[in-house]
Amino acid sequence: MRYYLNKLIFSINEFMYGRYKGDELNRFLTIVYLIIWVISFFPYLRFLQLINTLIFILIFYRAFSKNIYARQKELNSYLKIKNKIKSQINFTKQKHKNRKTHLYFKCSNCKSNLRVPKGKGKIEITCPKCNTTMIKHS
Ligand SMILES: [Zn+2]
Repeated sequence: MRYYLNKLIFSINEFMYGRYKGDELNRFLTIVYLIIWVISFFPYLRFLQLINTLIFILIFYRAFSKNIYARQKELNSYLKIKNKIKSQINFTKQKHKNRKTHLYFKCSNCKSNLRVPKGKGKIEITCPKCNTTMIKHS
């Protein structure tokens, strides 16, 4: 029994050697797969099972892929999008937290976010990134 178990583990290891295996993107895809799996039980959402089949194939394709470089590029693109969304959520939270004391503007030149104290009347704002000045009411 133990012999066959070891043999099985050895052949799995041999099969997986040089393959990409899992990463954060595959974990994310697995969560999406499970969520879609649950909601696809609703009568009008059956078509989602088709999308889920594609996600399932994609997860296995990525895990067994030997093109590590391409898979890492996909992971990097995913992480870039994820971090962008994460920082946008954090910024919105912060904006809400400071809503009584500060106002937020976008720089008219470089579109970066600028924070100014509230209730100061007419003020001149200088963007710290591009040095553009704007007149605003706070
Ligand atoms: Zn600027």
